[in-house]
Amino acid sequence: MRAVVVGGGLAGASAALELVRQGHTVTLLEARPTLGGAVQTLPERDGDPPPPPDNGQHVALGCCAAYLSFAEEIGQSAALQRRPLWLPVYDEAGRMSAIGAGPLALLRYRHITLRERIQVARASLAIGKLDPAAHDDESFGAVLRRLGTSSRVIDRFWDVFVRPALNLPSDEASAALGIFTVKTALLGPRGASDLVLPVQPLGAIHHTATQQALAARGVTVRLGARVAELAAGGAAAADAAVLDSGERVEGELFVVALPPAEGARLLGEPDPGLEDSPIVSVHLQFDRELLGPPLAALLGSQAQWVFDRGRITGHPPARGQYLTVVASGVPELLDVRGRNVVDLIAGELTARLGPAELLWSRVSREPRATFACRPGSAARRLGPATGRPNVARAGSWTATGWPATMESAIISGRVAASYLA
Ligand SMILES: Cc1cc2nc3c(=O)[nH]c(=O)nc-3n(C[C@H](O)[C@H](O)[C@H](O)COP(=O)(O)OP(=O)(O)OC[C@H]3O[C@@H](n4cnc5c(N)ncnc54)[C@H](O)[C@@H]3O)c2cc1C
Repeated sequence: MRAVVVGGGLAGASAALELVRQGHTVTLLEARPTLGGAVQTLPERDGDPPPPPDNGQHVALGCCAAYLSFAEEIGQSAALQRRPLWLPVYDEAGRMSAIGAGPLALLRYRHITLRERIQVARASLAIGKLDPAAHDDESFGAVLRRLGTSSRVIDRFWDVFVRPALNLPSDEASAALGIFTVKTALLGPRGASDLVLPVQPLGAIHHTATQQALAARGVTVRLGARVAELAAGGAAAADAAVLDSGERVEGELFVVALPPAEGARLLGEPDPGLEDSPIVSVHLQFDRELLGPPLAALLGSQAQWVFDRGRITGHPPARGQYLTVVASGVPELLDVRGRNVVDLIAGELTARLGPAELLWSRVSREPRATFACRPGSAARRLGPATGRPNVARAGSWTATGWPATMESAIISGRVAASYLA
């Protein structure tokens, strides 16, 4: 049959690959000039250090089996570097202590007292026994507090990885997703918490290589093809995705792999009403090395996570250090305009890690980076079934049980294609 996938993010790409496996003839329609959706390399500008900055540092984990198998399928496993969990954390005085995998590593984490570390171990054991689905009506912070966790321990331990994983702090995020993430990544089998970092620009993996892999399997990829309408054909004609140009791309099966509001519009359904949560990334080149480890968190700072992009991608600059700073779920940073956000973030780094001169900078604001996984959001995450039997829904925001991640996107695409089988 002819299958049409609308949306060329990771959900659409994975749906297309699955539909090919089922034997269909697949066309993928993407509005932008590139595949990858939320996973992009910024258009190159004069003066950018190599490689050009991404729209935001993306990190996967060892437990992201679907994403890792997708990378393999598109021939990009070597573009991902896997390393055991080791998260260096700098406190307000610039002292470093790391969070590693396992109870022994936890006992060595010095930014909380020994008593507090034991409290973390106890809370983790208790979380391991909870059913995520039973806790979507409260925040993860509320569950942690009920298990005897103080605000200080939430700030100095839990939020170090809950905030980037859920794109909200523990006190705002649904406990369902907090519990799921801790159980799946931190308490999962050996290797589940491994960090998986792209060592190539995101665009090389999720646009160029994905496009080549899709084409090699016979998928027709059409870029710059925005779908304005999904038209039901009736008795005389086939159903079709109608492009802005008026061109009809006909098919028997359709996957709508779009963000929630856009998908609802095409399907003629009410908007599921999921809020957005932003990510702001600031790319900086300093005249000297500020950061020893390849990545680190800063406690009590809007510069929440810092990545040594030069070193991670194998391109340390001839002079100084090329860093990417990520601030997750901080809507107030979206309002800090122009040079001010660079000065703010660069200032937080130099205050914490030592003086340095800024040589280059670039900012990437993603106001709709993910949906805001607040308590109550599970009911708004829809499954693959739509009002039309030959149309399935996908997207990292759909009801996969995962937070809005690359893993969720890949799973959702496969689920949508299987639903149509
Ligand atoms: C800055 C940033 C950092 C992130 N960090 C991480 C991370 O570290 N780890 C992680 O796992 N996840 C991370 N995420 C989240 C992850 O990237 C997304 O959840 C995931 O990629 C979404 O994939 P998707 O295919 O569901 O949706 P999208 O990527 O949004 O894809 C939808 C596609 O549909 C296209 N489209 C829209 N309307 C139409 C139309 N009418 N016709 C045709 N095409 C249309 C869009 O152009 C887009 O390409 C991050 C996201 C951002 C923005």
